[in-house]
Amino acid sequence: MALIVQKYGGTSVGSIDRIRNVARRVARFHREGHQVVVVVSAMAGETNRLLALAKEVSPNPEPRELDVIAATGEQVTIGLLAIALHELGVKARSYTGGQVRILTDNAHTKARILEIDEERVRRDLADGTIVVVAGFQGVDKHGNVTTLGRGGSDTSGVALAAALKADECQIYTDVDGVYTTDPRIVPEARRLDRITFEEMLELASQGSKVLQIRSVEFAGKYLVRLRVLSSFDDPDSTATGTLITYEEDEDMEQAIISGIAFNRDEAKISAMGVEDRPGIAYSILGPIAESNIDVDMIVQNIGASGHTDFSSTVNRNEYQKALGVLREQKEKGRFEARDIIGDNRIAKVSVVGIGMRSHVGLASEMVKALAGEGINIQMISTSEIKIAVVIDEKYVELAVRVLHKAFELEKGPEAA
Ligand code: ADP
Ligand code: ASP
Ligand code: MG
Repeated sequence: MALIVQKYGGTSVGSIDRIRNVARRVARFHREGHQVVVVVSAMAGETNRLLALAKEVSPNPEPRELDVIAATGEQVTIGLLAIALHELGVKARSYTGGQVRILTDNAHTKARILEIDEERVRRDLADGTIVVVAGFQGVDKHGNVTTLGRGGSDTSGVALAAALKADECQIYTDVDGVYTTDPRIVPEARRLDRITFEEMLELASQGSKVLQIRSVEFAGKYLVRLRVLSSFDDPDSTATGTLITYEEDEDMEQAIISGIAFNRDEAKISAMGVEDRPGIAYSILGPIAESNIDVDMIVQNIGASGHTDFSSTVNRNEYQKALGVLREQKEKGRFEARDIIGDNRIAKVSVVGIGMRSHVGLASEMVKALAGEGINIQMISTSEIKIAVVIDEKYVELAVRVLHKAFELEKGPEAA
């Protein structure tokens, strides 16, 4: 008998029929003797709908109230799934994040889980009850409802699995595992039976939304056995999806590149013709950090005649704010610049693989493939297991396809 946490995403609970299908799978695991905790998202499209309602009332709603609204999506699904399980004759109880007591900090709309009180859940499980928990939400120490950021139900699932020391956390979604890239963009993409934790972390951080980055971080911190599978398979299916592994498997052929991620949520801001002197980077990045804006890539060009250009990327929804901060600093005379400019139509494409550690020349292969299609590269950054480029947003799908082909990812390590 095992303790399993299963998380079902929005599409997987997108209709009553699909909720019934989820109930059948959960009931099967229960019948087999396992203890099951189910974490569900809001029904497909619901979170967007709720947030749009708030935006109709005000262009700038308070984050605390946004959370109150958004959290209702998941509350509907837990009730529906519990009822569907009752219809199958199994004991089930639903809980909101606050009822479990998933304690978070108070960073509304992007809260972090601090602690989970798993007593109540354990009591139900011991009694043979299936526990259904609302994903994406928690509660701060004052009892305010919080949410964990888009895609946050993954993190709820993994955090519960960590707290309960579950044998496995299964993320059921609308694809049957982690692929070499988003199969909606590249139909030839190949499902991976396994992927290392480090690669999954890098793919998620570079924009693969199949797992929210924080869920992967949590899994790594508590070594949660994590698997991605399809919720659309038959409830009796024995498909094994993709397992996230914590050790490199010596016996397995390791591909040099495991996957390609892309992210359209990017924007670039540049300070042109700034003085090339010590401290200039700080006078630009300091105020951005103080405004709580995350920067990702940073590029400073070689200076000519004492001046240089300085660019960084930020999340697209912080683009206007970042531009505003720099313009204000320039006006206040904190640094001199010829101009502050930006572009919010850029995207980032990243190739990821632990095999990069022992292979050279991959960056050159990557830029060659992109050049072959006339795609201009605006910025490049590398880490031990990743090469990322910033390009014009309109070429993102083409770039992903070209790179997938250039690195022969459809073939797998044996064939390559
Ligand atoms: P859920 O609602 O179940 O949380 P998401 O839409 O958040 O599902 O994530 C699943 C989606 O992630 C897939 O439908 C797919 O389009 C996308 N995706 C992006 N990159 C990958 C990848 N490397 N492998 C699998 N799916 C990916
Ligand atoms: N319902 C939330 C969202 O749409 C959380 C999730 O689905 O993981 O982002
Ligand atoms: Mg998701």
